[in-house]
Amino acid sequence: MANISLRNIAKVYPGGVRAVHDFNLEIHDKEFVVFVGPSGCGKSTTLRMIAGLEEISEGDLYIDDRRVNNVEPKDRDIAMVFQNYALYPYMTVFENMSFGLRLRKVPKKEIEQKVKAAAKILGLEDYLDRKPKNLSGGQRQRVALGRAIVRDPKVFLLDEPLSNLDAKMRTQMRTEIIKLHNQLQATFIYVTHDQTEAMTMGTRIVVMKDGLIQQVDTPDNLYTYPANKFVAGFIGTPQMNFLDVTMEEEDGKIYARIGRNRLLIHPDTVKRMTVTEVNHRQFVLGVRPEDVHFGSEYAEIYPDSVIKATVNVTEKLGNETLIYCSVDGTDAEIVVRGGSRCRVESEDKILAYVDTQHIQLFDYDTEETLLKR
Ligand code: ADP
Repeated sequence: MANISLRNIAKVYPGGVRAVHDFNLEIHDKEFVVFVGPSGCGKSTTLRMIAGLEEISEGDLYIDDRRVNNVEPKDRDIAMVFQNYALYPYMTVFENMSFGLRLRKVPKKEIEQKVKAAAKILGLEDYLDRKPKNLSGGQRQRVALGRAIVRDPKVFLLDEPLSNLDAKMRTQMRTEIIKLHNQLQATFIYVTHDQTEAMTMGTRIVVMKDGLIQQVDTPDNLYTYPANKFVAGFIGTPQMNFLDVTMEEEDGKIYARIGRNRLLIHPDTVKRMTVTEVNHRQFVLGVRPEDVHFGSEYAEIYPDSVIKATVNVTEKLGNETLIYCSVDGTDAEIVVRGGSRCRVESEDKILAYVDTQHIQLFDYDTEETLLKR
């Protein structure tokens, strides 16, 4: 069992840098929680406070109903895995994995048992006699994970553990860590700046910016119901398009105007709006590239939400084509996700059809969402 409760946690570094503000979160037993956000947003600081490697300036940290603010790291029943694996170069894999247990004078037989069991989980059984320099990056990271597993902790804290690996190995290790979590049935807290890693691994994701939590939610909800413009832009690639629009009301219908284009807002979206008097108001309209369609077959489906645009660049990715355009008569740019066989070139004039059932609307000043779920 390991529930972790962070209550009004804050960190002020010597010199006055306030790295984390009023952080509140309940992490449940066996959850896989990911802290994600741009570099410097306070992810590692928060993780290190949970580990006990960084003093907590304000607030209370509980692990299973026990306040642990002043408990030594080694007594918190937590294991941490870092980006730089920090393996001892002159020790074998076995020695690296057993080092902590040997320090704690665990009987030899038990050590052997634990290391072998961890090696089996991680597919390292054939490498126990090797030195780290004779291992691949992925294998080294597995040894670092193994060192954590043998301690049989209640909580695993992982700080950007895959950042040193190449793209292919990262994808592979991602799957392995998910499997590991299922197998070990422990609580995992994982820090990354990579939204893809967060989206694919976390059962719940904490999005942070400037030391503040922006939203805590499941991957699906973050994608579909972002709480503000920052979350909307941070989650998803290519990034969501943001357009400054002026709302217009006519014959009971609501439109968003951008330059000479006017988009009829789908009635489902209108129903979800948290503001009623919208006529002439300026909002930020967000729409993901996959909800902006290109191709004459869409003219019938979305006849009243068309944007005239000029293509700047296209990126052919094989399975899809990203079309980067300028919205005619404005400074706005928009990315359209076209199919694999889509043929357009720079300077082409195109019509982009916006699915306004799947847009976001944000307050122009606060950037908070204006839509209910
Ligand atoms: P992240 O993990 O999201 O990249 P960090 O938690 O490492 O962010 O850092 C959050 C903020 O705290 C940053 O502004 C960083 O410069 C600052 N910071 C981190 N460590 C220290 C430190 N030891 N002393 C002073 N400021 C620090």
